[in-house]
Amino acid sequence: MPGEVDYYETLGVSRDATQEEIKRAYRRLARQYHPDVNPGDKQAEEKFKAINEAYEVLSDPEKRRAYDLFGRAGVRGGTAEPDFGFGDFGNIGDLFDLFFGSGGARTETPRAQRGSDLRVDVEVTLEEIASGAPKTIQYARFQTCSRCEGSGAEPGESPTTCSTCRGSGRVRHTQHTLLGTISTVVTCPNCHGEGRVIARPCTQCRGEGRVRQMVERNIRVPLGVEDGTAVQFLGEGDSGRRGGEAGDLYVVFHVRPHERFERDGSHLHTKLTISFAQAALGATVKVRGLDEDIALEIPPGTQPGSVIRLQGKGLPNRRQGRGDLLVHVNIHVPTHLNEVQRGLLRQFAAACGERFTDVPEEEKSFFEKFISGLKGEKS
Ligand SMILES: [Zn+2]
Ligand SMILES: [Zn+2]
Repeated sequence: MPGEVDYYETLGVSRDATQEEIKRAYRRLARQYHPDVNPGDKQAEEKFKAINEAYEVLSDPEKRRAYDLFGRAGVRGGTAEPDFGFGDFGNIGDLFDLFFGSGGARTETPRAQRGSDLRVDVEVTLEEIASGAPKTIQYARFQTCSRCEGSGAEPGESPTTCSTCRGSGRVRHTQHTLLGTISTVVTCPNCHGEGRVIARPCTQCRGEGRVRQMVERNIRVPLGVEDGTAVQFLGEGDSGRRGGEAGDLYVVFHVRPHERFERDGSHLHTKLTISFAQAALGATVKVRGLDEDIALEIPPGTQPGSVIRLQGKGLPNRRQGRGDLLVHVNIHVPTHLNEVQRGLLRQFAAACGERFTDVPEEEKSFFEKFISGLKGEKS
C-alpha cells in the first residue's frame, strides 16, 4: 500500500512478529509516548494514537489477517468490510496491563485451528458492473474430509490422548548443564503439539481431517463496483482444523479496460465522430451506450471538442442513481473529395465570402496552401 501507514513499521516489528513480540513493542512505545509522560507535546500525542491504532489491529489475529491481505482498507470500513471503529486510546485492558502489570501470556489449545482466509481475483467488464451480472467463481480450498468427518482417524477409530504430553501438546524439557538446570517447554515430539494421536489415520485425508478441493460459487458483481474492491464472504475460506472455524473468502474485483469507454467513478466518457455537415446543421445521431443505443441531439453549430452530457447513462453509483455519459464530439474532415463535393464546398466557401484562385489544389505545395489559408487567399 504505497503512501500508507505501515502498522508493523509503527510498532517497529517485522511482518512475522509473534503476538508476544507485538505486545512487547507496544508496551515499550506506549510507555514512551503516553500523554501523561509528555504533557502538551502534540507530536507525542499523535504518535501515541498511531501506536494504539497499529496495536488495535496487529494484536487481534482476525484484524491482523485482514490487514495483511488488504492493508488498512481491510480493517477500516472498506466497501464490504465491517467498520471496527477504533477509539482514540485503544484497548483499555491492554493499557491497564501496561501500568499495573499482568499475568503471563494465555495458553492456546493446540487443537482447534481457524482455517485460512482465501483470496480470489475476478475480472469484470463495465457491462457486468452496470447490470450486476451473475458470475461463477472457482477456487481450491480445504474442506472437512467426508470420510472421517474431520477427525483424521479411519472410520471406527478415534484419536486418543497423547500419552507423552497427556493432551497438552507441550512437554517440559530439562537439561542439566554446568550452569545449573535449564528447563524449557517445547512442542510434544510425539503428537507435534496436537495433544492427541491417531493410530490409523484416515486414508482419504492422511489424518489431516480436511482435503483440498475445487469449489464453485455463484456470486453477483456488485453494482458499480470500483476497481480493486474486495468483498468478504464469511466462512467461505479454508475449513478449520479440529473443530476450528472456517476462514473467509475475499473476492477482489478488477475492472477490465473498455474499448469504447473511459471510466471516471460512476461517469463514463466516450468519443463520437460526426460529419462537418452534421456539426454545422445539427442532427440526431446514434451513440452506443453501455447497454443500449441512445439517440443524441447534435445542436446546430456544434464545435469540435464539445462535450454533450447524457444524464443517468453512466454506471450505477452507491446512492442508487446512475452517473452520466459524457460524449466528446470530434468532427471528421474528409480527406478525399470528388469533383462534385469539391465544387459544392467551393460554392459554400464563396457564399461565406472566402475566395479561391483557379489553381487546382493538387498543384499547390503544402506550404502554399498553408500560406493561402493564413491570408484567406485574398488576390
Ligand atoms: Zn479424513
Ligand atoms: Zn503429545
